[in-house]
Order: sequence, then C-alpha cells, then structure tokens
Amino acid sequence: MTERLYLLDSHLFEHECTVLSCEPGKDGFDVTVDKTVFFPNKGGQPCDTGVLGNVKVADVREQGDELILRTDGPLTVGDVVTGHIDEGRRLDIMEQHTGEHLLSWCAYKLFDAMNVGFHCALTYATLDLDKPLTAEQVAEMENMANDLIRRNLAVTATVYEAEDDLKDVPLRKHAEGLVAPIRVVSIQGADSCTCCAPHVHFTGEVGLAKIVSAVAYKGGMRMTFLCGGRALKQFQKLQTSVDAIARRFSTAADEVLSALEKQEAELKEVKKEKAALTARLEEYLTAELKSQAEDLKGKKLLVRLTDVDPKRLRPLALSTLPEKGLTLLLSEKGGQLTYVLCANGLQLDMADLIPAVNLALGGKGGGRGTLAQGSAPTPAGLNETVEQLRIYLMNVLKA
Ligand SMILES: [Zn+2]
Repeated sequence: MTERLYLLDSHLFEHECTVLSCEPGKDGFDVTVDKTVFFPNKGGQPCDTGVLGNVKVADVREQGDELILRTDGPLTVGDVVTGHIDEGRRLDIMEQHTGEHLLSWCAYKLFDAMNVGFHCALTYATLDLDKPLTAEQVAEMENMANDLIRRNLAVTATVYEAEDDLKDVPLRKHAEGLVAPIRVVSIQGADSCTCCAPHVHFTGEVGLAKIVSAVAYKGGMRMTFLCGGRALKQFQKLQTSVDAIARRFSTAADEVLSALEKQEAELKEVKKEKAALTARLEEYLTAELKSQAEDLKGKKLLVRLTDVDPKRLRPLALSTLPEKGLTLLLSEKGGQLTYVLCANGLQLDMADLIPAVNLALGGKGGGRGTLAQGSAPTPAGLNETVEQLRIYLMNVLKA
C-alpha cells in the first residue's frame, strides 16, 4: 500500500521515498514506492507529473491500494530517491478543483442545484448541474463564489473512521460507494463534501473563479470555468484582442461595442445603397448589351464576355432576351469562367446546344428548354473561343 502524502499536505511538493518495485511497462517503467507526493489520475482530474530520482514521471495510476508511477527510465529497487512534482501543474489543478467546490456550493446554496459531474483538463474545467439556471443566476453564483474567495476561508480535510461518524456532518455531496475511512473536505462556514484530491489551504489561493460558458446539458447545465492562473491568462488574452479592436476603431476598450454597433448601422446603409446602385447599373448594362445584339433576319444573337458577379449572370442574361433570340453571356473572374445560355421565342432546346459550348470551353454545364448554364476553369485563348461560339450560334440561328 502506497502512503499518500498529498492527503496530509497538498503543498508538499517533494519527498524522499524507497523504490519497492520497478517493472518494464507500457511506454516506460512501472514503479511503486513506499510513499509519494504524486496524485494519480482520479476524480475527473489529471495526475501529477514530475521527477523521481533521475527519471521523469509522466503518469500516475491507482491500482488497488497501490499507486503506479510510470517513469521514462528504470530505478533500482531498495534505493531511496526524491520525488518532486511539477509545482505549477499541482497549483493549477488545485485552483480549478477548489474553485469547483466553491461554484458547486454556491449553486447548491442559492438555487438547490446539485453538482452531478466534474472534469478538469489541462486547459479547461467543467462542472455539471442537475438543473438549468438563468444567465442572472449563473452570474449570482459566480459572484458569491468570488466573495468566498475574497474572504480567504480555510479549506480543511477531515478523515472519518466510520460511516456513522458522518451522520451529523452537513454534506453537500456524499460520493457513492465510499467505504470508511471517509475523507471530507470543508470550506470554513460553507461547503463540505467527500473528496480524495488535493485542495488549496485557503480559498484566496483560487484567486478568481470565472464561468466562461453555461449551456444546456442532459436536462441540467454544463458550465466551463477558469480559476486562478487560467482566469488571468484568459483575461490577458481577451484584453489583447479587445485593445487591438479598440485601436482599429480609434476608441477606448469599453467603447468597442457601441463603435461596432455604429459600424453595423453604417454597413447596413452601405449595403442598401449598393443594392440600389447595382440595380440601376444592371438596367444600363442590360440596355447596353441589348444594343450590342446582332440581328439575324428578325432573330437576335448576343454573345458577350463580361466581368459581372457570377451570381448576377443568370438574371442579367435573361434580362437581355428579346422576343426572338439567343444569348450566351460569360463572366470571367479569378481564373473561373461562368456562362449562361438562354433563348426566347425560338424552337430550340438549350439541352441540344450546351454540349458544344461545354466542349469549346472545357466546362461542365447543363440545362434544358430555354435555359442552360455551366462553369469552367478559364481556358487559354478565351476571346478566340468566344468568337468561335458566336459563329456556331449564328449558324444555329440561320439554320
Ligand atoms: Zn475536492
């Protein structure tokens, strides 16, 4: 059985121990020691990492009463070595974990919402509540948690040797399937719940608890939160972004929203003006194109290469159609060719004509009746090809 020193002092980062066994294992060596400061993967949070003697510890797992430390090198059984955990990682995880106790307590105290899940990853942490809360309630529990942090309350762990000893302890949560001795972690004047992990000594060490998202989850709510150093890092990141946006608007950081709203209103106006101008421009363009159509014994033929927006090509082509005639309108933009073939008042099916157009342009297109359309990568010698298509369609109309 490995003696777990982290249960006695969560801020003990280094300790000597005796190597009891060392076996080659998956991705390194599985080592057991008589006592350790390393916390294993447990209770929804990652293990400590660090060094043991002169080898690195990358993973710690629980196997019955033993803790198995996975090292990247062998150790000699019987040697006394020093285990030293990654202090930053331990402090970071304790900040998130104790922050979770505080937030869960506040949700329970204020709204009778129970914590039904916790997960702490290396960059984020989540807690799940059994009921949904409003945005105002989320803000309220966050404020209360931060008030408890500010008051710097003691966080203590007590081990109860018998289940009966617990009957008068006002527990928020009693983990299922625990057998005595049972460890209860309490926040002075506030939360008490069964827990096996390391916590900070005082709530002030959590620094700040910030809920960054709260979404509906399994009939309740999942909250993602950041505490301590993670919350600071996020604040710094957001401030850098907001400051950069504020500089673009030549305004103060807390004025960016109104600057953005003003810009949105301006953009809406510009879009309206653009739509009106585009409509007028298309009227002129339609008239100009119509005037360029060739007259072939009462039938009109229009073949033109343009640079209009491909999305506008079809309505523009249709608007150029005379009572009797054929239009092939092409648009070339950024190496991509779009084309529309349409007719009016003729005994022609575009399905019979589009294969020749596709073949000449190296494109894919289809359609039937009075309309067909297609696209192609812009072919070499485009102007010459368009001229050949004009002659082809002229012969079709003459036939
Ligand atoms: Zn805990």
